[in-house]
Amino acid sequence: MHIYLDNAATTKMSKAAIEAMLPYMDTVYGNPSSLHSAGQRANEALAESRERIAKQLGCDAQEITFTSGGSEADNQAIISAARIGEKKGKKHIISTAFEHHAVLHTLNKLEKEGFEITLLDVHENGIVLPEQVANAIREDTCLVTVMYANNEIGTIQPIKEIGQICRENGVLFHTDAVQAAGHLRIDVKEQNIDMLSLSAHKFHGPKGIGALYAKKGVRLTGLIEGGAQERGKRAGTENIPAIVGMAAALEEACAHIDNSARKMTALRDRLIAGISEIPHSVLNGDAKKRLPGNVNFCFEGIEGESLLLLLDDKGICASSGSACTSGSLDPSHVLLAIGRIHDIAHGSLRLTLSEENTQEEIEYTINAVKEVVAYLRSISPVWRDLVSGKKEFIIK
Ligand SMILES: *Cc1c(COP(=O)(O)O)cnc(C)c1O
Repeated sequence: MHIYLDNAATTKMSKAAIEAMLPYMDTVYGNPSSLHSAGQRANEALAESRERIAKQLGCDAQEITFTSGGSEADNQAIISAARIGEKKGKKHIISTAFEHHAVLHTLNKLEKEGFEITLLDVHENGIVLPEQVANAIREDTCLVTVMYANNEIGTIQPIKEIGQICRENGVLFHTDAVQAAGHLRIDVKEQNIDMLSLSAHKFHGPKGIGALYAKKGVRLTGLIEGGAQERGKRAGTENIPAIVGMAAALEEACAHIDNSARKMTALRDRLIAGISEIPHSVLNGDAKKRLPGNVNFCFEGIEGESLLLLLDDKGICASSGSACTSGSLDPSHVLLAIGRIHDIAHGSLRLTLSEENTQEEIEYTINAVKEVVAYLRSISPVWRDLVSGKKEFIIK
């Protein structure tokens, strides 16, 4: 049995992406900056991929800059907005407490440079309200950055409404859409988005490639010194095979977006219903306003790490939250942000689906989670204290 339920960490590459990439790892290996025909063939693939990606986002090709992934796109978007802001004496940035570390750590860096950062509360349901953004905007606000969908608990934010508020106030709006791209419909113009980050390996494309959309007129700051690739905004020879693979993967994902969402939502809701039968468990994040493929629970009286290892023994690849924090003993900042206390946040489980998962896999997983949680509780001294009444249950 091999059941992959960690699609928020990364996805399996699609056949379409692999096939699209093959010629660019074999016969079409020119450098797109070269003037000869081999280079020009690569350059054509680069231009065509940019067009295809732009089309899926509702923007122009010139508004797309290729990066090494979601992290770099987030860094570049935020640093660029900060540089634009400080020229006008605006050094205040609004974000949320449960962003990806690519955003939070970049904000920390700017804070050390003298920027002021406001992190909005995301409430117990994991959703920020547009009014919060409106209330936090000041004269000196240069950027609002709010993720489209959270990578741990899957909650979807009111992006269009937040974008509208930013537009009315003349503030740049960036969204980390790494979990949303290819899974939820995106139209940057319609949704009032000025900058958006995406990453191919989260929608069945290759790893190490991403893109930053920046509206015409938003001047990007290059993070890497070197050649004039990407109109001087991102030095380094373009990763043509990966860029071609990303375009193919995004196109395919967007073509099937409604069907995949319908299928995954049904599996997700079955998984949520099944796991909810476990006593003293709680679903993290809004039950409905979440990604079609995201399930995230906390169980009282157990350790997430042991849960993952025992599930792995049963052939199930799961996660306790973010791949970036696993291996560290700190509980997830996302779960803390929605108000889970340390002990509870430690007992978390994230299961993230793809359209390839089956009903049988879901039923097997529900039973496996039930068994493993029961076993871990049977050997847990904390659980013994809870059952005997020595300690009080936090999750009722
Ligand atoms: C995965 C992820 C990133 C980082 O993307 P990489 O391509 O792995 O650098 C950023 N933000 C979110 C929300 C993510 O899920």
